[in-house]
Amino acid sequence: ATPTAIMVGTERGAKVGILIKSAEALEGACNLDEVVLDKTGTVTEGKPSVTDVLPAEGVSAEELARLAGALERRSEHPLAEAICHWADQTLGQGSVDDEVSGFEQVAGGGVVARVGGSSVCAGNARLMGERGVDVSSVSDAADAFADQAKTPLYVARDGRLVGLLAVADVVKPSSAQAVARLRSMGIRTMLLTGDQERTAQVIASQVGVDQVVAGVMPDQKERMVRRLQQEGRKVAMVGDGINDAPALARADIGIAIGAGTDVAISSADIVLMRSDPADVATAIELSHATMRDIR
Ligand code: ADP
Ligand code: MG
Repeated sequence: ATPTAIMVGTERGAKVGILIKSAEALEGACNLDEVVLDKTGTVTEGKPSVTDVLPAEGVSAEELARLAGALERRSEHPLAEAICHWADQTLGQGSVDDEVSGFEQVAGGGVVARVGGSSVCAGNARLMGERGVDVSSVSDAADAFADQAKTPLYVARDGRLVGLLAVADVVKPSSAQAVARLRSMGIRTMLLTGDQERTAQVIASQVGVDQVVAGVMPDQKERMVRRLQQEGRKVAMVGDGINDAPALARADIGIAIGAGTDVAISSADIVLMRSDPADVATAIELSHATMRDIR
């Protein structure tokens, strides 16, 4: 495109909160075959909250809140924030800060630490499996939560389950419209998430994406983008988190959600200041308009 067309396109984007960092990004956005969307914070609001609490037999909600809260206070994951908020509400003034040591965030799984002399972990079924915790007593309940698009999280102490929590995150109102607009431009869509399969499938069907890949470990997002590129596809990645940054950098076009982390924003070619997934489609339309102008 001519410098003038690029300038006009860039300005039109900026006016609606679509920051295009380079001429290459504006030009490249019109040749895309596939848009890969991160789930949490991109397709969903990224502000999860605890919706259901199921303490194990003989365990009180307060005890569950105390253990989960002690652990999650050390984590920066969005899920941790939801659990801490719930724990604070459940414990109220009586909240005691337990002694926590050996805190560890397990990638793609959850958190582990020693709390007041016990070994406590909180996270998904994969983590419980690794730690030898039997979750069969609540697997029906966990499946039912997942079918409601909620994420089940397990809490265990010394290898025994102490409770199941469900955490839900709202799908952004324009996510389905964004996917529909991409499809009408002949662009395939993929939802990519570290969340479990069943929950991801329900969210995927609400949004209408062509494909969903769940249970993705943090370092696998970049690999997935690379694999699509090796199949000869031009790929845009849309994400907000630290764990999206390598994939944003790898993609032909990296698109960061403005409300996301600094590292995602600096790894991207385009930043959506309104954090609106529909602006992915608008940015691509803008690219088409820019490239048409010069012919
Ligand atoms: P994503 O944020 O896309 O879900 P992550 O790799 O950060 O991907 O997390 C994968 C999964 O690990 C989460 O869906 C959750 O089940 C579990 N998890 C991660 N961090 C925590 C935490 N602090 N507390 C409980 N579970 C967690
Ligand atoms: Mg995210």
